[in-house]
Amino acid sequence: MSQLKIDDRLWSIKARNLSPYVPGEQPTQASLCKLNTNENPFPPSPMVATAIAQALQNQAVNLRLYPEPESDSLRQGLATYHRQHGITPSQVFVGNGSDEVLALVFACFFIKDRALLTPDISYGFYPVYADTLGVEMIKIPLREDFSIHSDDYRRPCAGIIIANPNAPTGILMPLSDIHKLCQEHPNAVVVIDEAYIDFAQNEHDAQAVVSAISLINEFDNLLVVQTFSKSRSLAGLRVGVAFANVSLIEALIRMKNSFNSYPLDRLAQAGALASLSDQPYFEQVCQLVQKLRQLLTDKLVTLGFDVLPSQANFVFAKPPKTLFSGDASVLAQTLREQGIIVRHFNQPRVKDYLRISVGDKEQIQRLIVTLYDLIKS
Ligand code: PMP
Repeated sequence: MSQLKIDDRLWSIKARNLSPYVPGEQPTQASLCKLNTNENPFPPSPMVATAIAQALQNQAVNLRLYPEPESDSLRQGLATYHRQHGITPSQVFVGNGSDEVLALVFACFFIKDRALLTPDISYGFYPVYADTLGVEMIKIPLREDFSIHSDDYRRPCAGIIIANPNAPTGILMPLSDIHKLCQEHPNAVVVIDEAYIDFAQNEHDAQAVVSAISLINEFDNLLVVQTFSKSRSLAGLRVGVAFANVSLIEALIRMKNSFNSYPLDRLAQAGALASLSDQPYFEQVCQLVQKLRQLLTDKLVTLGFDVLPSQANFVFAKPPKTLFSGDASVLAQTLREQGIIVRHFNQPRVKDYLRISVGDKEQIQRLIVTLYDLIKS
């Protein structure tokens, strides 16, 4: 009994010293206009619901069986989907959302007390993982215009992690810069977190490839992380992916099976595979989100916001002085009181900005009308 108490105390001391990520809230009121966590405003492909319903109806009995341990059918599906880049199933890893994939990547490749480079403003989970594992994280400042340049990463390191497009800025780093990073750091694992890449386009050539998956067979040190949460509208299903050379993927599988051996459940595997099979729907949704991003940007600019050039499904926007003297936290709070939730980050360089997810037309309209009324009053 007394031993248990001591263990409890030790555990709570350890837990108290962690500085966890604060996730965007998930309120349940349907009336809220929820523009805070970059979910897709549109539903997933109807084929996803059909596949899951089939898995439940015809073969619900199969739910008594464990799922495929390494999600081999889905890995095969993803390799086929990216066949133009020569990806094979053994170059694919899947996990329960890209957060789990990233946690395993940190545990696997980023070594205690050896430098990991990352932008100073990026996805809030990276410093949390680094902290938990004792990885030394060196934060490289974004440029004045919030962009990321490979030249700024020329220093010894064991790893680099960059979100591309970056979050919360939405700015895209060109593929040529990722190429340089991989070339200049042959002994570091270069991780490109492409949670939002499907909403991005090369600014000069809309048909050009922007994903670093196209470089996997050129660089052994590159690992690309993607998710089904954003462009495929499946945040609730929890499906994340990593693409890399076979030895990095083998290491991830080892780490997963030693540290956390939860495979994707049967419904997630079925739903994700179905989503991959509906390319016309996927393209239609991505194009619609891009159009709505432009609409949201234009309307905000008209109201006097300063909006960064986003290639993601959110915009990072600085309110004009006419709105609460430009105080973004007061604006976020006021919007919240009116049933609209957006994200404010209380960090020095970005505290004047709000991250606003691209909603559907009605949500954008509601936001803009509310902002207009606030400016007028
Ligand atoms: N990377 C980035 C940059 C993100 O913004 C997010 C979530 N918002 C994730 C990864 C994790 O996404 P998920 O776990 O849903 O795949």
